[in-house]
Amino acid sequence: MSLAEQSAADLLAVLARGEATSVEVTTAFLDRIAAHDKSIGAFLRVDADRALEMAAAVDRKRADGEPLGALAGLPVAVKDVLCDREALTTCASRMLETFRTPYDATVVVRLKAADAVLLGRTNMDEFAMGGSTENSAFQPTRNPWDTARTPGGSSGGSAACVAAGFAPLAIGTDTGGSIRQPAGLCSITGLKPTYGRVSRYGLVAFASSLDQIGPMARSARDAAILLEAIAGHDARDSTSLDRPAPRYTQSIDQPLAGLKLGVVREHFAAGLDGEVERAAQEAIGTYQTMGAEIRELSLPHSKYGVAAYYVIAPSEASSNLARYDGAHYGYRTDQAAMLAELAAERKALESAGDKQGLANLDTALVRMYRRTRAEGFGPEVKRRIMLGTYALSAGYYDAYYLKALKVRRLIRRDFDAAFREVDLIVGPVTAGPAFKLGEMVDDPLAMYLVDLYTVSANLAGIPAMSIPCGFTKAGLPIGLQLQAPPLEEDRLLRAAHMYQQSTKHHTRRPAIVS
Ligand code: GLN
Repeated sequence: MSLAEQSAADLLAVLARGEATSVEVTTAFLDRIAAHDKSIGAFLRVDADRALEMAAAVDRKRADGEPLGALAGLPVAVKDVLCDREALTTCASRMLETFRTPYDATVVVRLKAADAVLLGRTNMDEFAMGGSTENSAFQPTRNPWDTARTPGGSSGGSAACVAAGFAPLAIGTDTGGSIRQPAGLCSITGLKPTYGRVSRYGLVAFASSLDQIGPMARSARDAAILLEAIAGHDARDSTSLDRPAPRYTQSIDQPLAGLKLGVVREHFAAGLDGEVERAAQEAIGTYQTMGAEIRELSLPHSKYGVAAYYVIAPSEASSNLARYDGAHYGYRTDQAAMLAELAAERKALESAGDKQGLANLDTALVRMYRRTRAEGFGPEVKRRIMLGTYALSAGYYDAYYLKALKVRRLIRRDFDAAFREVDLIVGPVTAGPAFKLGEMVDDPLAMYLVDLYTVSANLAGIPAMSIPCGFTKAGLPIGLQLQAPPLEEDRLLRAAHMYQQSTKHHTRRPAIVS
């Protein structure tokens, strides 16, 4: 098997045994990227020089017998939303097209400390808003299983990257499903940790109370390796949980005896694709043959999840994105053109004798803000800012934002009640397989509904995972979602690993790389 086809766990063993150097491993992935990423578009930027330098440095450390980090010499791709002071951080937005941060995100610090090799930055929906990666200001990403289709989003670049064998591991973020959906649609394993499990310091904020960073990998074992390297308390993030992160890789081989799995009635209702339903039911059957007990249950408020999410997430986004004003960060409109535009408007108003118009004319500062934001943000980001500003405005705040917060609490209570009965909840990740590029770009509501099964975990703050559980007749991947009580990532990983020990779906690779 070529180096680029091996799992992260196997590559770590190969490196430790000295059967290959990190430079060789890194070169294998860079070669594959060079050969195939033109047709996928997973990366916004590949930093081959830096990757090879990092790899050579790890090889030197190893040769000198120095202590090595847990990811020593292993290539990792990072979604372009985490600050890295040696790279650009664009969030796939014109607003940050040339932006360099002065500091590293905690997750980037931890990856570097673990001696990982950072390959480059993966594509995403602009500011992580979207479910198809088509909202990137720079390029779409194609699904390696069918390049006419999207990889899902917003971490579509990271998912496509792992699926196509461009990196054994990738970092994604999940605010309403952005790790789990693309993982499901690209047939990889992705985990959204408990809110607070992984530090958000240096993660460019979309919706701060929902955002989490997590691992995307080929298997649960590989996801455990990456999660272990990035999880844990961080004093720089006040929402980071001050709880020790377990050694996921140590426990992953222990099967869960007497596992009680909850199947949610609302997850198998109208709108679910027949082939997806069958694959999910089959996976549930597999768990049963492994000794799991299945219980049907209800999450009665889950049907309000998408509505609550699309009030809360845009509200937080409208506040978080206020900082992009042309003065503090990134893009600024052309000053001379802006001043000329204002002067021309003033002249026209003066010659028309329009006193009111003159009184209402922007100051240069306000016009700078306006033009900067009009030019720097794409349409979906603008839509979210408008929705959020509206929901937070006096008079609507109680009716929308406060109401959504109450629904959020009820959704969490549903989960608390469910987890008194069962250990994990199992069901589909999305209602259908990967959709065609362009299919939903003009229908934002249809795109929002793709989030039906994933947003509740973010609203409740619980950990959730997506693992491959089959393919449609047309060969498109199908994902299975596992959800667990807060802080039970260990349980999720062990259950996912049990499934991957007795099934082969996660080992199948798209034709592009076979
Ligand atoms: N699709 C959802 C949205 O557009 C989730 C995005 C995410 O998790 N970052 O908001």
